Amino acid sequence: MHFIETRGNQSGFKEKVTFSEAILSPSASFGGLYVPEDLPVFDRSFFDSSLSYKDLAKKTLMHFEIDIEENIVDQALALYDGFDNPDNPAPVVKIKDKLFVNELYHGPTRAFKDMALQPFGFILSHLAQKQGQKYLILAATSGDTGPAALESFKNKKNIQIACLYPDGGTSDVQRLQMVTEDGNNIKVIGIKGNFDDAQHALKTLLASDTFKDELDKNAIKLSAANSVNFGRIIFQIIYHVNAYLALVKQNAISQNEKIYITVPSGNFGNALGAYYAKKMGLPLEKILITSNANNVLAELIQTGIYDIRDKKLILTLSPAMDILKSSNVERILYDMFGAQKTKAWMDDLNTKGYYQLNSEELARLQEDFAAVDSDDDFAKETIAEFAKEGYVMDPHTATCIKAESKLHEKPICNVICSTAEWTKFAPTMMNALKNDTLRYADKEALEYVSKTLNIPITASIEELFSKTVYHDSVIEKDAIEDTILNFIN
Ligand SMILES: *Cc1c(COP(=O)(O)O)cnc(C)c1O
Repeated sequence: MHFIETRGNQSGFKEKVTFSEAILSPSASFGGLYVPEDLPVFDRSFFDSSLSYKDLAKKTLMHFEIDIEENIVDQALALYDGFDNPDNPAPVVKIKDKLFVNELYHGPTRAFKDMALQPFGFILSHLAQKQGQKYLILAATSGDTGPAALESFKNKKNIQIACLYPDGGTSDVQRLQMVTEDGNNIKVIGIKGNFDDAQHALKTLLASDTFKDELDKNAIKLSAANSVNFGRIIFQIIYHVNAYLALVKQNAISQNEKIYITVPSGNFGNALGAYYAKKMGLPLEKILITSNANNVLAELIQTGIYDIRDKKLILTLSPAMDILKSSNVERILYDMFGAQKTKAWMDDLNTKGYYQLNSEELARLQEDFAAVDSDDDFAKETIAEFAKEGYVMDPHTATCIKAESKLHEKPICNVICSTAEWTKFAPTMMNALKNDTLRYADKEALEYVSKTLNIPITASIEELFSKTVYHDSVIEKDAIEDTILNFIN
């Protein structure tokens, strides 16, 4: 299988690349993204509910004919053995009639980012070693990608990783997960500014000539660990298929019966995984998308306009969904409408701040997606309501209940994706349970929620508060380049 570009190809770039090339150097011409040249199709025999998660994953990866040796794939997938239940890394739990939760947070950093970053990190560092090439991975995080990327790449040969986070912009737990990491190849840097500043600093760095020259001098190449990298997306197809098979296994549906999947969206990687699964033949009625107060994605799917002209980023209680430019929408547009239109729309977004689909294109988008936006009050009420009934969900997962109430039209099952464990957002959980808006420290909130709901605090989270802090630098934005250059030297 080869990979091609969403905005068409500019001379000077290869027209088609292998999977390895797409994940080592994810930047394509015209700023586009790599996508599979044609998607494989699952035949009926694929939907075998007796497959283990790892076997299903291997079968899916092999179906894409990726250029990675089988034993490396096996070793990468063996990382799921480090999840709470090695046989069932992503449990699917029934919470109401026809309503299920795909719990994707049972990995080492307690957010769904581990589902892809654990095996992806292994494969990327294997490729770097095989080539004898050193890579620097830069990550800007609003809280979940950073810990998952550090956990995956720490102590990996030929890889150095530098992770920027907004100081004061993450939860205590998320910050501690990063600053207490003690790998020999990692640098964690707090920035005086918000997440946009961290991301902007990273983009400036990527465009800086002095920075590139220094990397060249040190024979270091750059790669990326965010979901523009297809190496993450491929692992995000699998858990949607697994959830479908879990419903068959639980006798909730019969083979080939359609279901909804609901995804709390930010950069749209999770939703894209579901879209590819549907296109490959998984019987999905529709993919239901939730946004928070930053509702660009919901607007696009409802009205066909992606418009950020009058929008400012709003900080919400579901911070991983706080986004204005959602990268992976581009891959959907490409898949539905081709490279020429995709490039024109992306150019419009950059120059005019919006793009608009016509009514036929919107109708096409709505064949696969429906969307709704939620807000902080709804999330808090939902957390409290479900906690009373015995199910604990985090503020991102709670947004999915809005889709359940507004968009679940047919009498079929709906599987909502739970993207984080409650322990990562304990102060919000405490606000929801007490119905107040006071600011609590994570530790206090963890203890309160644990006691009130009679649920344990995950050991790896509790231990963070007594771990050694290895990374205490918080710097001004203009000092980032020097700090990273010092690190790679
Ligand atoms: C990253 C993240 C999301 C958004 O996922 P996308 O694939 O970027 O749409 C939602 N919830 C949580 C908790 C996350 O960490």
